[in-house]
Amino acid sequence: MSKYDYNIIVIGGGSAGLVSSYIATAIKAKVALIEKHKMGGDCLNTGCVPSKALLRSAKMLSYAKRAKEFGFKKASVEFDFKEVMQRVQDVIKTIEPHDSRERYTNLGVDCIEGEATITSPHSVEVNGKTLTARSIIVATGARPRVPLIPNLDKIDYLTSDNVWDLKALPKKLVILGGGPIGSEMGQAFSRLGAEVTIVEKAPQILKREDENIIKLVTEKFQQEGIKILTHHQARAFKGNTLICEYQGKDVEIKFDKVFVALGRSANVTGFGLEELGVEIRPRGTIEANPFLQTNIPSIYVCGDVTGPYQFTHTAAHQAWYASVNTLFSPLKKFKVDYSVIPWATFTDPEVARVGLNEKEAKKQNILYEVTTYGIDDLDRAIADSEAHGFVKVLTVPGKDKILGVTIAGTHAGDLIAEYILAMKYNIGMNKILGTIHIYPTLAEANKFAAGEWKRAHVPTLAMKLLEKFHAWRR
Ligand SMILES: Cc1cc2nc3c(=O)[nH]c(=O)nc-3n(C[C@H](O)[C@H](O)[C@H](O)COP(=O)(O)OP(=O)(O)OC[C@H]3O[C@@H](n4cnc5c(N)ncnc54)[C@H](O)[C@@H]3O)c2cc1C
Repeated sequence: MSKYDYNIIVIGGGSAGLVSSYIATAIKAKVALIEKHKMGGDCLNTGCVPSKALLRSAKMLSYAKRAKEFGFKKASVEFDFKEVMQRVQDVIKTIEPHDSRERYTNLGVDCIEGEATITSPHSVEVNGKTLTARSIIVATGARPRVPLIPNLDKIDYLTSDNVWDLKALPKKLVILGGGPIGSEMGQAFSRLGAEVTIVEKAPQILKREDENIIKLVTEKFQQEGIKILTHHQARAFKGNTLICEYQGKDVEIKFDKVFVALGRSANVTGFGLEELGVEIRPRGTIEANPFLQTNIPSIYVCGDVTGPYQFTHTAAHQAWYASVNTLFSPLKKFKVDYSVIPWATFTDPEVARVGLNEKEAKKQNILYEVTTYGIDDLDRAIADSEAHGFVKVLTVPGKDKILGVTIAGTHAGDLIAEYILAMKYNIGMNKILGTIHIYPTLAEANKFAAGEWKRAHVPTLAMKLLEKFHAWRR
């Protein structure tokens, strides 16, 4: 007789929970997956998918505005905001089957619709029933952080949870927060025709990026008419006016709608963690060891609820460790490998990162050399009228080992894949240079960056000898 109903009970059917269930079931474990709301979690329903769908529609409009650059006298687009938002929902509907209860049930997962409460280190209550498992994986995700700004609760503010229900385009939209979500949504709404103001208390938007990257995005935003108010701290709301503090003075900003994009809080309360004494970090995420195990040995975590990264691909990456460690520990267990973590901000220009940038290298006192290739010089980018941005590579001084790469420009999130692979498998700049890239593609920018690196590292003595050799041969 089995001691438990399941090997694993997974709580949360977002990216982290889905991938955990998938992996555990694929290796023949018995898994229950409990989701209280929509399968697919934030990514499918309120995050990555709808935001990228909206950005795409907005990009079509931006191309129409640039008609002259492409040789047309003009192009005009008529649209109804409701239909654009309907397209977003249609995109979600099309992707939905990938994350659906049907799909996961067919894979062998017991999918349960309901709110889970952990009642002991090995039991979970859902829909009035108690289920038991050797281990529990908590993958309950995060939600928009809404700070206590006086009178914010009195206005009908937007977050990434409810913005998708908007039926009319706000005329004046204030975005609180100039991070990746605020920047992506700000550009999308601006391109759709809203008057967008981004309010950011830091000196810059996208503040984790290097200065030249921030400059590129900031200038593009300003050129498109987005107002960026940095050093502005939101203090209070008074009707449809936001009061900010700027250099010790109050500044008033009028709006029709406010979008709060001030970070995300992990979902850690109300489902039994407090009662069991599961440790929570000061920043609100669940504490876990490098094996993703909490202080309660049978409870593991993955995804936004534990961080440190809050991306779909890092949730999926952690999910492998959580499910494998859960199933095989203490016989075999693996520390999560965070050595090569990529991400992208899907503004236009896109900003994609892997490994260190200059800001981080300096902070960590890591010596580096920088090689930059300007995409304004790239044949395909010129042909596409997308000749802007750059590939910026940090390498170990005197060596071709890559420490980190930032690409800013069109399709940067796709282009960086080559450098992610290179970093993961310790491939240096010489090998990237020695690889054939198809002409004319944007991907050639990666090779040309390696070419720039090579030019800066030509061995001078060997070159002098070669010069003499060729002179002798003439
Ligand atoms: C606007 C926006 C854009 C984004 N864009 C990107 C992007 O382009 N690329 C990228 O990589 N990431 C992006 N992200 C981040 C990405 O969406 C998250 O990192 C990812 O969804 C995290 O997955 P998760 O499984 O940890 O959590 P979630 O997706 O939040 O899933 C958690 C699930 O747990 C369920 N749950 C919670 N408590 C219980 C309970 N007690 N019982 C049962 N179920 C429960 C919830 O209903 C939810 O479905 C974006 C996020 C936002 C908001």
